[in-house]
Amino acid sequence: MIAPQAETILKEKFGYDHFRAGQNQAISRVLAGESTLVVMPTGGGKSLCYQIPAMLLSGLTLVVSPLIALMKDQVDALNDNGIPAAFINSTLDYQEIADRLDQARSGQIKLLYVAPERFDTDWFVQRLGSTDISLFAIDEAHCISQWGHDFRPSYLNLANVAAQLPSQPPVIALTATATPRVAQDICQRLAIPADGMINTGFERSNLSFKVVRDQDEDRYLLDYLKLNVDQAGIIYASTRKEVDRLYTFLAHKKLPVAKYHAGMSEAQRAANQEDFLFDRKPIMIATNAFGMGIDKSNVRFVIHAQIPKDVESYYQEAGRAGRDGLPSEAILLFKPQDLQVQRFFIDQSEGDDEHKQRQYEKLKMMERYANTDQCLQQFILNYFGQNGTKPCGRCSNCLDDRESVDVTVDAQKVLSCVVRLHERFGKGVVAQVLAGAHNQRVLSFHLDQLSTYGLMSSRRQRDITTFIDFLAAGGYLETRGGQYPTLGLTVKGAEVLRGQAQVFQKTAQKAEQHLEVDD
Ligand code: ADP
Ligand code: ZN
Repeated sequence: MIAPQAETILKEKFGYDHFRAGQNQAISRVLAGESTLVVMPTGGGKSLCYQIPAMLLSGLTLVVSPLIALMKDQVDALNDNGIPAAFINSTLDYQEIADRLDQARSGQIKLLYVAPERFDTDWFVQRLGSTDISLFAIDEAHCISQWGHDFRPSYLNLANVAAQLPSQPPVIALTATATPRVAQDICQRLAIPADGMINTGFERSNLSFKVVRDQDEDRYLLDYLKLNVDQAGIIYASTRKEVDRLYTFLAHKKLPVAKYHAGMSEAQRAANQEDFLFDRKPIMIATNAFGMGIDKSNVRFVIHAQIPKDVESYYQEAGRAGRDGLPSEAILLFKPQDLQVQRFFIDQSEGDDEHKQRQYEKLKMMERYANTDQCLQQFILNYFGQNGTKPCGRCSNCLDDRESVDVTVDAQKVLSCVVRLHERFGKGVVAQVLAGAHNQRVLSFHLDQLSTYGLMSSRRQRDITTFIDFLAAGGYLETRGGQYPTLGLTVKGAEVLRGQAQVFQKTAQKAEQHLEVDD
């Protein structure tokens, strides 16, 4: 049961009539002194889960937040509502930090926002020790897990800090992206009990997901932006160079674009960000360096010009569309060759082989998203461990009304070729063998002697490659290994090969009943 005072604060300080799903449970737990993990989609209202308790608890609520920009906005908003709050980060000098800590200790402020790196310095932790801390809130809590997509070493230390605070406050950890594994990791590290998770699900019912395969990205973007004039949106590209190129191209076409990447000066980035926030340049072209902590509610579309590194990043970036709850689009432009860029990033990244292997696994799931014919929203929810949902009816797969045809025989041709090649080659060679190609590689390995050689010679090699992608997305085949992945059969694929299961694919033709209606 929620404390009646909590409802009063909701109305009087924040101007809302009702709690949203999960908020009252989270607040009740925290007020009862129980550590809690809150998993809510972006825009779900996580902040109130610690801001309201902060008003009701006697001591200070300490909020760890990784982003300086977000911190200042939140603190300003709280102060505007008459709630005494302050932040501490690297933009302040020593004296200012000491002053704010004093205010916190004397109870003049109720919420103190702090960047995680602060806790790396001993004197800071010591000074906090003499403050009466009633609640320890950790935003973007997935950063604590190495299984998450945004692991930050300074977050690891937070577990120790929480355990060592003399007042032993409960912890409230909050995130919008956590696979079951990450959620478990967060709970374990922060000593949150197994029944201490409040998960409202991840679904974003105002977002329409769309995958656009193998199209010229410049052409697509230009057409899209011309159709959606005056709308705010973000276009993500995977490299700085590509951001610069797209920016030049679209600016040249007189579109109101701004750009953002880590290779630009801080002043430039800040100026461009403002142009975007205030709709002077409503279209932002950026690398993934942009967006964390950007609270722009009217973003109508997020387009990924290239595939991102994993489903978590994708959902978080795409989720910046439609924070105001209005219908918005999340579009992925997919070309298989873009995967090579991500593989390169993984290979160049720091971290041991195990870490790289994890990243490859994640990229593979992202590749499956790009190729699946399942409901896209459902695919993402399943990825986050949320099962039993219905197809969304809005995504490009749900709206795909082409006819499903039985492609079991073609699938068996591909699968048996993979088996004949002893699962030692990648999809390029598999496609070449099936197409009956005469190149050096095929001949030098004597692959033209295989019984599956030329088995699909009536189809173009490129179509065969696309079909292989489709089979991988459907879980009949899997790619194994890193930079030069090989194709292998899955259990599901083996069933098809044995004739125990069928494979269906949507064809280029529309289903007949639709044709009649259209004519
Ligand atoms: P999150 O951190 O989960 O992405 P926020 O805490 O920033 O989301 O909240 C998103 C928006 O929803 C904010 O504009 C916030 O004021 C609003 N909001 C939060 N709780 C409620 C509520 N109970 N009723 C109406 N609006 C709410
Ligand atoms: Zn759908």
